[in-house]
Amino acid sequence: MRIVVALGGNALGNTPEEQKQLVKQTVKPLADLIASGHEVIITHGNGPQVGMIFSAFQTASKTDSHLPEMPFPECGAMSQGYIGYHLQNALRTELLNRNMKPDVASIVTQVEVAVEDPAFQNPTKPIGAFYSEKEAQTLSKTQNYVMKEDAGRGYRRVVPSPKPQAIIEIEGIKMLVASGYTVITVGGGGIPVVQKDNELYGVPAVIDKDHASSLLATLIEADRLIILTSVPYVALKYGTKDQVNLTHLSTKDAKNFLQEGHFQSGSMKPKIEAALAFVDHSPNRKAIIASLQEAKDAIEEKTGTLIYYKE
Ligand code: ADP
Ligand code: MG
Repeated sequence: MRIVVALGGNALGNTPEEQKQLVKQTVKPLADLIASGHEVIITHGNGPQVGMIFSAFQTASKTDSHLPEMPFPECGAMSQGYIGYHLQNALRTELLNRNMKPDVASIVTQVEVAVEDPAFQNPTKPIGAFYSEKEAQTLSKTQNYVMKEDAGRGYRRVVPSPKPQAIIEIEGIKMLVASGYTVITVGGGGIPVVQKDNELYGVPAVIDKDHASSLLATLIEADRLIILTSVPYVALKYGTKDQVNLTHLSTKDAKNFLQEGHFQSGSMKPKIEAALAFVDHSPNRKAIIASLQEAKDAIEEKTGTLIYYKE
């Protein structure tokens, strides 16, 4: 099967050194899938990383006037670069250790968004560090940041999260996949760009990696979209004493649960929407939301939440 695997924040950790160590574990389930004969295309988030790069340049430029502030799209490109580097480096080693072909490449990927996307009026995507309520209030006053609470884990800055419309480098991705490469692409959801004549302009926003992964999976005609994250199942009444984990979720039920507000925006909601967009109207396609460590069992439908088409 052709499988798009979307890696969440827990696959990468919080610092470059932590990430370098952590990806050695992350690539094992990916190598398992490749060893089972699947074509694997890897995508990943970049929330903490892009926030860290942005804050670093911001802080540095305050104390040294020779250092520029780094525009947000450039921060995204940087994060794709070093995350891709770590992943392709670690996966290559893992494949070589198993006497397999070590062909892995990451692509700096631009993803087109629409200027008129309503998301630009309503920022939702958490990026960067977690703050206390008090720190959050200070930051929104002094920096004009929009701060929101993120799934009971603290406050984070949020930026607009427009929907991906097109993947600029899609033909190159298809060619690499067709020639047997494991491709790492649309990192952090891709660098958001708007098109004007022959030019693409980066915009300060973060495309949700789940939506970008869904678009990618559709465009390359994948059989499965597997979203690996920090929870083993999608749940109803998540985080309450009445929590119910779901092993199977039809597109019909998913739409109803979405409306009932079971899935938090910025975390589980985009995953469900991504799964729906990929699976809808196609009985052969399935999406799976599962924990990172259980990727192989999840693709064999032994664990995780399986999302399947039902009218
Ligand atoms: P990732 O980096 O993998 O995209 P996110 O933090 O964006 O991770 O999304 C995963 C988180 O979604 C979980 O850690 C959990 O706290 C949260 N979450 C919100 N609603 C639900 C739900 N209904 N079921 C399961 N997890 C949920
Ligand atoms: Mg997320």
